Amino acid sequence: RAKENGKNQMEIYSSELNSLTVERFTMENQLRKALEHGEFVLNYQPQFNLEKNQIIGFEALVRWKSPDRGLVSPLEFIPLAEETGLIVPIGYWVLKEACRQNKSWLDQGFRCTTVSVNISAKQLQQKDFVEIVKSILEETQLPPANLCLEITESTAILNVENSMSMLIELSELGIDIAIDDFGIGYSSLAILKQLPISDIKIDQSFIRDMDMDKDDAAIVRAIIAMAHSLELTVTAEGVETKEQINILLKEECDYVQGYYFSKPLTAEDCAKFLS
Ligand code: C2E
Ligand code: MG
Ligand code: MG
Ligand code: MG
Repeated sequence: RAKENGKNQMEIYSSELNSLTVERFTMENQLRKALEHGEFVLNYQPQFNLEKNQIIGFEALVRWKSPDRGLVSPLEFIPLAEETGLIVPIGYWVLKEACRQNKSWLDQGFRCTTVSVNISAKQLQQKDFVEIVKSILEETQLPPANLCLEITESTAILNVENSMSMLIELSELGIDIAIDDFGIGYSSLAILKQLPISDIKIDQSFIRDMDMDKDDAAIVRAIIAMAHSLELTVTAEGVETKEQINILLKEECDYVQGYYFSKPLTAEDCAKFLS
């Protein structure tokens, strides 16, 4: 009987594995089609200068309007897109669309703002990534100073020599580089110090419990102090409450982004927000 059970378990196991594989394969194919059929859209979440109470820019966040799945969050498809390499063409579309949109807002006379775009490790690993960014800026006519690229700590330190020279080139063009989700990765301060970054985005997990958890508050305070002593600006992500704002004001955090101010908006709503 034990043998029988064992066999059944194996069958169940392999059929679950199978349906997982099928689901991944299905999603991969749907993602490919999504690119061809233009099913991706960008939302924009405003970022504010806390002290001046002014909008300074937006983060472009991709969504997938799938005919089969409805509106899909990036948390559900970016990991597979990264594994399969599809993030390269998807990321290209995101970067171009974000630049085009920001240029159009600038042309409409909205206050000078920066659009921040998330860049995956796979994109930065392309040998011609700098050329790609340059050609998008040329095509869309967006001034480099109105673009910020967000990379995570792990992306920054992956193949650091390679990414270092690219990031230096990009920053010399006038593009800002920000470290996203700071505090949860493994980057050493020694490496960060050598990278041409201008902003650190504190991961939202530290902001979330900051008003209740002394340790999180201490971490946030330390990150802000460290960033400022390295002459970097700091953005707090995931700000939802007035209490969090008060702490961030006291600690002289430069920029904030979160539901307290605004959720990510459609391009249309974002334009209304700006005007
Ligand atoms: P991220 O770059 O750290 O973006 C911030 C995420 O936090 C966004 O989730 C945003 O909607 C969410 N958020 C903002 N304010 C709040 C708040 O007050 N409370 C809470 N609970 N959440 C808040 P979203 O749009 O689901 O994106 C998730 C992640 O997917 C992003 O994290 C980023 O890592 C990735 N992602 C999104 N768009 C792209 C893209 O175009 N390319 C790549 N490579 N990754 C992307
Ligand atoms: Mg980001
Ligand atoms: Mg983040
Ligand atoms: Mg993230």
